[in-house]
Amino acid sequence: MPLVERGQREVFCGLTGIIWMHRKIQDAFFLVVGSRTCAHLIQSAAGVMIFAEPRFGTAIIDERDLAGLADVHEELDRVVGQLLARRPDIRLLFLVGSCPSEVIKLDLSRAAERQNQIHHPKVRVLNYSGSGIETTFTQGEDACLAAMVPGLPASTNTAPALMVVGTLADVVEDQMRSLFDRMGLQVSFFPPRNSQAMPVVGPNTRYLLAQPFLADTARALQSRGAQHLAAPFPLGVEGTTAWLQAAATEFGVAPEVFEQATAAPRQRAEKALAVQRQMLQGQRIFFFPDSQLEIPLARFVNRELGMDLVEVGTPYLHRQHMAEELALLPAGTRISEGQDVDLQLDRCIADAPDLVVCGLGLANPLEAQGITTKWAIELVFTPIQGYEQAIDLAGLFSRPLKRRLKLAA
Ligand code: SF4
Repeated sequence: MPLVERGQREVFCGLTGIIWMHRKIQDAFFLVVGSRTCAHLIQSAAGVMIFAEPRFGTAIIDERDLAGLADVHEELDRVVGQLLARRPDIRLLFLVGSCPSEVIKLDLSRAAERQNQIHHPKVRVLNYSGSGIETTFTQGEDACLAAMVPGLPASTNTAPALMVVGTLADVVEDQMRSLFDRMGLQVSFFPPRNSQAMPVVGPNTRYLLAQPFLADTARALQSRGAQHLAAPFPLGVEGTTAWLQAAATEFGVAPEVFEQATAAPRQRAEKALAVQRQMLQGQRIFFFPDSQLEIPLARFVNRELGMDLVEVGTPYLHRQHMAEELALLPAGTRISEGQDVDLQLDRCIADAPDLVVCGLGLANPLEAQGITTKWAIELVFTPIQGYEQAIDLAGLFSRPLKRRLKLAA
């Protein structure tokens, strides 16, 4: 049984998902309806990326709008109108809700409907919430994808079709597609790179989750008849193989075809990981709850890199989606769900792990205590899924330890 805590949390809000999603859907725009704090958050989180034409922005709704909600709706219509006139490349616009009280009072779904009436069919307008009250960090992607599901075209086929669900970097998507190709499987990816190429969905859809934080999206797909293929997540060699195998089994791919398709990249990755394992074997790691990637990551570092798990924290534990992952963790692993940050910090300091994976807010206080940290956000921003990325993923854990050793020398 996991340790369940419901105290103060130290995590980003769901707006953060915009940082990776805006890179994916290339004709989409994310308009945060929020405060200066929201604008500042996404600007600083995205600070390193300079686009001639950014694909996100903030409509700032602040005190001056408190006088009347009608004004806010008018203001929003004006901002959207200006944006779409200036940016004819935008075909999908997300109005993203946030937590200031002025925004909570706004009915963004009504606003999106109204905008749709004005701008459809050229632009489709959807809304979801990235508010820190309703969402943590990666839940923003879940809310965004779930908002898109009702608009996916209905499949007219009866033959089973494979869909991979969850935002993957283009380079990872290309590798996955090529692996499925070699197995003779056609695959669609959701979200797609272009909003005009939305995948079809229906009772013949069999979907693999590429990310572990998509509970609402999975529910929405299931309500369209799609069926989930249970599998561990494609992190590390073992996770990637099992994930691909789940599709291969469902679609009746012959074992020798599967072996032929996967053997070379698998062996390359295994060889490269053996080097990292020498450095990480026996190192003790503590995960604070942040991205919901913690359990698959813990499985990877434990089974493929030989690290010892001190505590594996996760903001939410989706028992069904995590079943295959949990079965691969050592018996008795301390799993915690939710957070009471002070209690968890006390446990962490008492345990004195070699490496802590945590949010930015906790890294400095822990480093000040002499504990080596890794920012969880980097694990979300970096392409880490699949065989070719397994070595980069291992590097994300070994680098802070190497740095610490250098400093100590
Ligand atoms: S949505 Fe809420 S938590 Fe997120 S940046 Fe805006 S004010 Fe802060």
